[in-house]
Amino acid sequence: MVRELTHFIGGQHVSGTSGRFSDVFDPSTGAVQARVPLATTAEVESAIANAEEAQLEWATWNPQRRARVLLTFLDLIAKDMDSLARLLASEHGKTVADARGDIQRGVEVIEFAAGAPHLLKGEYTGGAGSGIDVYSLRQPLGVVAGITPFNFPAMIPLWKMGPALAAGNSFILKPSERDPSIPLRIAELFLEAGLPAGVLNVVNGDKVAVDALLHDERVKAIGFVGSTPIAQYIYQTAAAHGKRAQCFGGAKNHMIVMPDADLDQVADALIGAGYGSAGERCMAISVAVPVGQETADALAVKLTERVRDLTIGHSLDEKADYGPLITREAVVRVEAAIQAGVDAGAELLADGRGITVDGYESGFYLGPTLFDHVTTDMDLYLEEVFGPVLIIVRADTYEDALRLPSEHQYGNGVSIFTRDGDTARDFTARVNTGMVGVNVPIPVPIAYHTFGGWKKSGFGDLNQHGPDSFRFYTKTKTVTSRWPSGIKEGASFVIPTMH
Ligand code: NAD
Repeated sequence: MVRELTHFIGGQHVSGTSGRFSDVFDPSTGAVQARVPLATTAEVESAIANAEEAQLEWATWNPQRRARVLLTFLDLIAKDMDSLARLLASEHGKTVADARGDIQRGVEVIEFAAGAPHLLKGEYTGGAGSGIDVYSLRQPLGVVAGITPFNFPAMIPLWKMGPALAAGNSFILKPSERDPSIPLRIAELFLEAGLPAGVLNVVNGDKVAVDALLHDERVKAIGFVGSTPIAQYIYQTAAAHGKRAQCFGGAKNHMIVMPDADLDQVADALIGAGYGSAGERCMAISVAVPVGQETADALAVKLTERVRDLTIGHSLDEKADYGPLITREAVVRVEAAIQAGVDAGAELLADGRGITVDGYESGFYLGPTLFDHVTTDMDLYLEEVFGPVLIIVRADTYEDALRLPSEHQYGNGVSIFTRDGDTARDFTARVNTGMVGVNVPIPVPIAYHTFGGWKKSGFGDLNQHGPDSFRFYTKTKTVTSRWPSGIKEGASFVIPTMH
């Protein structure tokens, strides 16, 4: 029997009324395990109305009281970690260990957001003029929304809602229709933690639900994460409707390998960052750039050996290095990208197409695929593949290597492996991407710094988590006051200045 999921509006599970559903698979077996309703515009409007009403009182709670709800939520999620990780793995396909990481990375942003009393403090200048004090207040925007991708169904919703809620907003989440159960569970846990009903709502759906959020003037800000074409669409539409928007898109993350790097460390790092979670991470490394032919030849050998040893299995199989892709369509799409690489003349060192996992022949599996001699005119290099495909693009010099990520259309993450501090420092200063790792393969910043890519990886001017997140979810009011009252200087027709 296929479970029927709901929306979560006004503190309650609400069945869908559209008659439209999307299948939720267990990617490890290929079976449909649930179906999720796709909301109508009216259902989204009902969530917005609930959120708008609930926000008025929520914003009156002092920041410390709001933060206590987040702290209680942290206790609840810690208690539930095992079952949440298994549920997440069963809908997404990533391993349970990786699913724990997904939840934990979100938890760390809730921990950060619980510092709201400090983060919401404004600035103050006493005595800016005669008897004049100037100070700023950070006030919530009202109703804000998040639209999130399938690949981190816990982490990214938590990155969005944590700072938004702590700042006194109410929040509507439109999670991915591929793995909606964890977001629904998160909403339940927040309610249990003492969040007033209606402050956090989950509306499941597709473009209809997204457009309803974009067009409604009661929604003041949209935080999006997903593919670049949708990020661009949401950024433009949100702006056209007078909303704040931060929209994060796709990626093509390079790892530069200098000749002085420890190649065993590099190969291990590339295997984990390239194939972990089946390559379905926006911070996956998908391009290895060894500098010099000797480095490239040695690296290609080490990677080929390691790729052979990888274990692909059911998401609940503890021995699996990675599990299935999210859908059958994703497998077909990545296989087509592999074929295009072969047709373009790249050298296929390992071909992951056509693998099956015993007992789970209908699962959405794809083996690790490795290409060498990929050139910068090939689609395999130019486009995001979002699967377990790692390519080697050889560079003759450091300057050639530096140019590759700097000139690529995407600018999410990049990393360099070297033992030379001068090179590392030069690279971090000059490379044209938003997040940089030095001897770190996946440079996802910790919760109290900000996360965001450049170029076609990010649209909008404030990043996720860290101090930027509180700037994004608040508006600044600046107060200029003079005391004591009653000072009489007569009318002045000149703009006031500080002289
Ligand atoms: P996606 O763009 O297909 O979907 C993301 C969200 O947009 C989902 O909630 C989906 O329902 C909604 N959506 C899809 N089509 C829409 C449409 N036509 N109109 C309005 N809304 C629509 O992305 P995905 O496949 O879920 O996620 C994978 C992508 O996300 C990859 O490109 C990956 O690089 C990117 N990603 C980026 C980051 C980052 O921080 N830059 C993080 C994670 C994932």
